[in-house]
Amino acid sequence: MIINFKKIFCLVLTAAFLLLVGLSSAHAQSNDNGMSSENYSKPYVTMPILMYHYIRDYYNQHDPIGVGLSVSPACFAKQLQWLQANDWQTMTFGDIKNKIAPAASKKPIILTFDDGYQDFYDNVWPLLQKYHAKAVAFVIVNALDKPGYLTKAEVKTMADSGLVEIGSHTLNHIDLAGQPEKRLKIEINDSKTELEKIINQPVVSFCYPSGRYDQNAIKEVEVAGYSFATTTHGGLANLAQPFWLKRLRMAPGTDISKILTYDFGNHTTTRPLRPRTKN
Ligand SMILES: [Zn+2]
Repeated sequence: MIINFKKIFCLVLTAAFLLLVGLSSAHAQSNDNGMSSENYSKPYVTMPILMYHYIRDYYNQHDPIGVGLSVSPACFAKQLQWLQANDWQTMTFGDIKNKIAPAASKKPIILTFDDGYQDFYDNVWPLLQKYHAKAVAFVIVNALDKPGYLTKAEVKTMADSGLVEIGSHTLNHIDLAGQPEKRLKIEINDSKTELEKIINQPVVSFCYPSGRYDQNAIKEVEVAGYSFATTTHGGLANLAQPFWLKRLRMAPGTDISKILTYDFGNHTTTRPLRPRTKN
């Protein structure tokens, strides 16, 4: 009986502690707009990760999906200017892994680009150099050197610059949910090895294709030696869950000033956060 009481007492204490920690962190992270630099000074747990696909001028009315995944280079340039003017500091996952903190009074943000399309080199890369901004390109390794996709040489050039982190988006962009372990290893582990050979640097970040994954895929990403993995779930990323990072989708018409002044005070809840768009 005594042992049972002790057990119950310990459980109650643990629960009270967890509740207190939860409340204090929720309090620390919430304020009027949830985005003060205080929130993002080290150590920071949550931060915004933007998700882009194409940066191109594209208005094909017969391809609404392609249009929805495209942000014009002019808009993207304005977004970089806005980030600079509003004290955001673009970072990479490697920076976070290496515990590189943003400059004082700066707020960290990561810009990610899925699929490794050619327009990343043509349209994004020159702007990153112009504004000294960093970005992460998640490339499909077997698509490199194919029409419409980045070349291995371009990937190497950008990785060497230190402005672009190259992350893995698997070998073949398959749906990872429900895949047998052998296939997961090929797509997740081999894509890392291949990419590291191309860029001659460690690959620390991974992106689940089409936002599809299961527990086995998450486990395999960790086993393969990645440090971070991004999903397509909307909201602020919680670095305490590094293999399940949420992102904010950037669509044509998304107003970056609105998406980053969203009321993030509630981000500790499970309520999904939807990016606000102009239309
Ligand atoms: Zn993709």
